[in-house]
Amino acid sequence: MREALTRTDPEIARLIASEERRQAQKIRLIPSENYVSQAVLEATGTVLTNKYSEGYPGKRYYEGQQFIDAIESLAIERAKKLFSAEHANVQSYSGSPANLAVYLAFLKPGDTVMGMALPAGGHLTHGWSVSITGKFFKSVAYGVRKETGRVDFDEVRALAREHRPKLIWCGGTAIPRTIDFPAFAGIAKEVGAVLVADIAHIAGLVAGGAHPSPVGHAEVVTTTTHKTLRGPRGGMILCNAPHASAIDKAVFPGLQGGPHNHTTAAIAVALSEAATDPFRNYAAQVVANARALAEELTARGYDLVSGGTDNHLLLVDLTRQAIAGKPAAQALDRAGLVLNYNTVPFDPRKPFDPSGIRLGTPAVTSRGMKESEMRQIGRWLDEAIQAAKRNDPSTLDQILGAVGEMTRAFPAPGLDSIAP
Ligand SMILES: *Cc1c(COP(=O)(O)O)cnc(C)c1O
Repeated sequence: MREALTRTDPEIARLIASEERRQAQKIRLIPSENYVSQAVLEATGTVLTNKYSEGYPGKRYYEGQQFIDAIESLAIERAKKLFSAEHANVQSYSGSPANLAVYLAFLKPGDTVMGMALPAGGHLTHGWSVSITGKFFKSVAYGVRKETGRVDFDEVRALAREHRPKLIWCGGTAIPRTIDFPAFAGIAKEVGAVLVADIAHIAGLVAGGAHPSPVGHAEVVTTTTHKTLRGPRGGMILCNAPHASAIDKAVFPGLQGGPHNHTTAAIAVALSEAATDPFRNYAAQVVANARALAEELTARGYDLVSGGTDNHLLLVDLTRQAIAGKPAAQALDRAGLVLNYNTVPFDPRKPFDPSGIRLGTPAVTSRGMKESEMRQIGRWLDEAIQAAKRNDPSTLDQILGAVGEMTRAFPAPGLDSIAP
């Protein structure tokens, strides 16, 4: 395997092999991560990385686009069809640049934008203070209700009427519930704002019919391609026809140079995979698995923000367990259960040492795991957190061993040839 790389740079080759083993042997519960198929991996690792293609299909600034144009056109057509969108731009380097392009398309520096607060589950690029989007624009943040953990539409409407944002973002990184796109659209319409739905986390669920689609409600939709959608790292912007040219100009030449053609090809492959019946089943199973995991954790006394989940993601407040998110996440990693610590809404602790953990089922579902495995994982999560509290590393190591056995029985896509 990878003979040339091993010869040229054995150090990097070894590190990649170690990462492959880590990905194969541990249980990946980070809700923004997934396993791409071997086909997507192959498309990514091709000579398409050698080609410059500034511009769009049929309108390039470099010659030699005979095959690149066909590849990007396929990606665009597949994106439009999969999401029933009028226009698609597949060139954004990732989710954050896709969002930045939307600002460039609709706003001038200093204009007002509204998005969900980061600690409530929003994304940095929705106007949070440390992001360029909070520094170059005037930003207003909405949150969630303390009692329900869900968006407070009375608050969203009141803030929108008061501040008259030009852009309203919905979507985020730690939202365990269905996003009510029509409710956001109604408010955006009332104040004359453009509604942007950032479906980075849930794009695969939307494509697979397991979450309502924002298309038809939000004029612009941004997404990553590498989370539930199970493509390569990248970004996409979907919009209705009147915004097509503003979006395309914002991505290039407004923000980026040449598109990453190897990524575009892999996006096209992922989009074709996402248009199949097995992918629809996958999306439904992601949600069913999250629900099973939520039930197991709730039965064991864990506090889930909003009381449960409608999608792929669970946000757990560990205050009742008397352990903070970071030491819990570190102990769980030792036990082979990889997730991230996370703020919970109204978190009294600091963002770098918050009260919660965030976990999700996209990756374990890609390995073919079902509800009974989720219940087992829920038991291990609880046992490992209890072990962390009494400083009992040997239990963590025992769980790691059991995790290794389970992962051997469910080989990960793209990694099924890795020796256990
Ligand atoms: C992941 C994410 C992004 C950013 O994507 P990157 O590819 O990491 O830049 C943007 N918005 C939301 C809601 C996300 O979850």
